[in-house]
Formats: sequence, structure tokens, C-alpha cells
Amino acid sequence: MIVSASNVQEAIQRAKDLGASKVLLQLPDGLKPRAFGIFSELSKHFSVVISSQSFYGGACDVGGSMDTYSRVDCIVQLGHTEIPNLRYPKPIIFIEHLYERDARIEASAFQILRSRGGYSTVGLAFSVQYRQVAEGVREALEALGLRVLVGGVDGRMKYPGQVLGCNFSAIHSVQAMVDSIVVVSTGTFHALGAQLSTEKEVFIYDVSEGSLRSMREEADRFLRQRFAAISRAAGARKVCIVIDTKIGQYRPSLAAVVERQARESGKEVVTLATDEANPPRDYENLMCDAVVFTGCPRVPIDDGGKFSMPVLTPQEFQMALGGIKKGRYVLDEIVAVDTQ
Ligand code: SF4
Repeated sequence: MIVSASNVQEAIQRAKDLGASKVLLQLPDGLKPRAFGIFSELSKHFSVVISSQSFYGGACDVGGSMDTYSRVDCIVQLGHTEIPNLRYPKPIIFIEHLYERDARIEASAFQILRSRGGYSTVGLAFSVQYRQVAEGVREALEALGLRVLVGGVDGRMKYPGQVLGCNFSAIHSVQAMVDSIVVVSTGTFHALGAQLSTEKEVFIYDVSEGSLRSMREEADRFLRQRFAAISRAAGARKVCIVIDTKIGQYRPSLAAVVERQARESGKEVVTLATDEANPPRDYENLMCDAVVFTGCPRVPIDDGGKFSMPVLTPQEFQMALGGIKKGRYVLDEIVAVDTQ
């Protein structure tokens, strides 16, 4: 991840515009090696402290405690994009990081869509740092004669076409009008979620490889693992329901619904609050048979292998209880959270 000197200057100017004198600086791990330089620049203008509290994911987690917030005038978070419908505890200056548009995007990389046939209209989505690259992908698709639609989003997202690992509204809004979806990203985090969120075939344009591939097989493999975990959870006697207190993952009302459903199904239940994504030791100490995690939906999905017991999303647990039709997988997505 690269944050330029002009990004840091922008943060300084915006903090000055707010009249700030004390700043809490939050850096994702990828930027920690630059911490000394960034700290030194900001310190020329403000009293600065860097948050060393765990800082998970994106703008859904502004780290820090209320005590820390009360001691600063604003927070500078580098490398992330705001979640518009969150009520942050302090003014937060988000300095986005955008990858430069890659001039090497070749229309031939998308030929598979043409050769498959039947894919004349394509939905285009992206993880936010590839917003500019997605423009190049759109041109390449149109050069092949394909029609491209970029989906509108809900209040959790900032840009049309943007996806988060917990929100695929950009895909839901166009899926009825397209034949397939192209997600511009790297790795499989966003594209796998996208494939799980729709029945249309999803392709990832992997920016680091400059290539296009279907997510169908990977999603099928993944679903077999999830349905195995759901089956194990169906027989659970003791269930731990977890509320994550991070500002953008806070869903106690959903936890309360799940708690009631679990009790009505004859389960013994405890509800746990944490700001740690993965407190597996606690799960072990509680000697529970299954965990329902109402924080980031990607924790159960991506970190399932870390736990000795099944850790499910609320929807997966409802499948285990028989409340959702068997065989149909429903991805947990966050549209809005509760207010703290
Ligand atoms: S809840 Fe999870 S997927 Fe959603 S923004 Fe936060 S870390 Fe990303």
C-alpha cells in the first residue's frame, strides 16, 4: 500500500480546516513501516498519537476507546474509505488510497466472456482501491462490444459499483439486468463474497495478475465446507452468540433475535461482547458447541479453520435451526448497524 506525501499533506490540511490540535493517527498494518515518517510530518502541526489498538478491516473499525477519543480533536485514518451511514465518535479524516489505473488492461483478458456466449451484458463492481482500474476494465469490456452496468449502492457504501466483504448492494441492484458480473480486485475476498451473494456467474479481474477467472468452482468448494459446519452446529447444545462492539459491526439487536431463536430451539445460550474479531480462547473456555458471530460476516467465513467448533454467521445458524430453506445459502451482509 502506498500513501504519498500529497496524501499526508491532504490529511494535514483537512485537520487544520477542522481546527484540530490533537490528532489520533490510525494506520493499517501495511502502512506501519511508514509510521515514523508520517508521524513526524503530522507532528509539525499537531500533537499526535498513533493508535496501537487492534484495527481490523476497514472504516468499520476506528479502533481506540472512548477515553482515547475524548483526548483528541479528530482521527486521521489512512488507506480506507468512509462508511457513510456510520455515526463516528469524532470527526474522521479518511485518506483513501487508489491504485493507479493500469495502462496494460487488454480487452483480450475478457475474451472468455465473449467465447462463453450469452454474456452480452456485464455488471461491473470493484473493491474501492481499484476504482480507477475499474474504469479501464469498463473500456476493455465495451471494446469487446459488451454492455456494462455499474450498480447503485446502499448507505453503507460510498461509490456506485463499490463492494465490501460485507456488502454487495452494487451487485444486487443490477443482477436482474446482467448476464454475469466482473469484480475488479485482488485475491478472492471480495469476489468470493460477490459470487455467494448472487446466482449470476461472477468473474474476478485480478489486478495483480491482469487476468479474468470464474469464481463458481471456488464458491462451490466453499459452500460444501459451510454446509458441513452448519450440519455440525445443528446438533449443538451450548451456543455462544457474539456481539462485536466495533462501530461498523455492532449488531446487538440481531444478536438478541438469534438468542431468542436459539432458546426456542432448546439450546443453552450465552451472549458475549468483544472488540476482538477472533477470541477463540474464550470460545474454548466457555466450552460451547457452536458460536454465532454477529460482527464482521467474513470472520466465520474466512477464519472458520481457526476454531475447534463451528463458528457461523446468523444466517448460517438460522439454516442450522431449519429456519432457512435447506440447500439455499444466504450470505450475511451488513446494510446498517445499531447505534452505540
Ligand atoms: S465488517 Fe468486515 S467485510 Fe465489512 S468492512 Fe468491516 S472488515 Fe470489511
